[in-house]
Amino acid sequence: MNLQIKDLSKTYSNGVQALKGITLTIPQGMFGLLGPNGAGKSSLMRTLATLQEADSGSVTLDTLDVLKDKESVRKILGYLPQEFGVYPKISSFKMLNHIASLKGVTHKGERKDLVESLLHKTNLWNVRNKSLGTYSGGMKQRFGIAQALIGNPKLIIVDEPTAGLDPAERVRFHNLLSEIGENTIVILSTHIVEDVANLCSNMAIICLGEVVSQGNPQDLTRSVSGKIWRKTIDRKDFEAHQQEFRVISSHLKAGKTVIHVFSDDQPNASFENIKANLEDVYFSEISSRMEALPH
Ligand code: ADP
Repeated sequence: MNLQIKDLSKTYSNGVQALKGITLTIPQGMFGLLGPNGAGKSSLMRTLATLQEADSGSVTLDTLDVLKDKESVRKILGYLPQEFGVYPKISSFKMLNHIASLKGVTHKGERKDLVESLLHKTNLWNVRNKSLGTYSGGMKQRFGIAQALIGNPKLIIVDEPTAGLDPAERVRFHNLLSEIGENTIVILSTHIVEDVANLCSNMAIICLGEVVSQGNPQDLTRSVSGKIWRKTIDRKDFEAHQQEFRVISSHLKAGKTVIHVFSDDQPNASFENIKANLEDVYFSEISSRMEALPH
């Protein structure tokens, strides 16, 4: 199974060009879509989920025309949007039962088995009779996944899922996604590089509506290997370094500023070469593009 996106473009009525000819091949497994805020991730996810129209381009899932045959897509799609409301007074058991019957699981016994298995899978069994309004952020996300899984979707789209989750909830959510990703296409849209590094076998980086890099995380990391240099500087020297070197990222450590510089050769003796990670790939791709923007 393959999702093929070709030359997908979208300009909103306010003139913002959110997608500029996106071309991507997404195979079975977990696929990470990384990009800064405003990159076009949600626009792409909503288009794939048949919730908005593209201006041009094509999307196919094997032989299925995703942009035209929306009804068929909806039957095989599980979508977990960035934010979703829950009915606060109803329990997860009742709500899943209700959604399953809306999605066509009409046989009562079959529906009960399905809902029970989903509650176990998403670790909500113990709280199945509590009202959704009392759930933590992580529990709500897992409920979102449970409802997205009804109907055995072949394509699952998860938009920015871990915002607001505590570390333990995040790990649990990740494990659940990995399990699901074994026999479906799961697209995980996020700006958290670590989530993609930990979970995804394939990925793309998008920035300002364009694909700037795609492949598997290990290969992409290897592609910058040997080219990432680190230096610890005073904050006041940051601008000077930015003028002289290609600074891709900076962070504070014990009151000092640690910069990462992208360079084929050692910039000078004050820089040390470090083992590159996916974050270095990400920042080397997006930093120059973002800098070009007016602030
Ligand atoms: P991301 O999910 O990567 O943060 P979005 O797809 O939400 O990116 O946004 C891409 C660009 O399109 C941004 O500049 C955003 O302001 C703009 N945008 C998103 N949705 C709309 C909309 N409905 N109308 C107009 N502009 C939009």
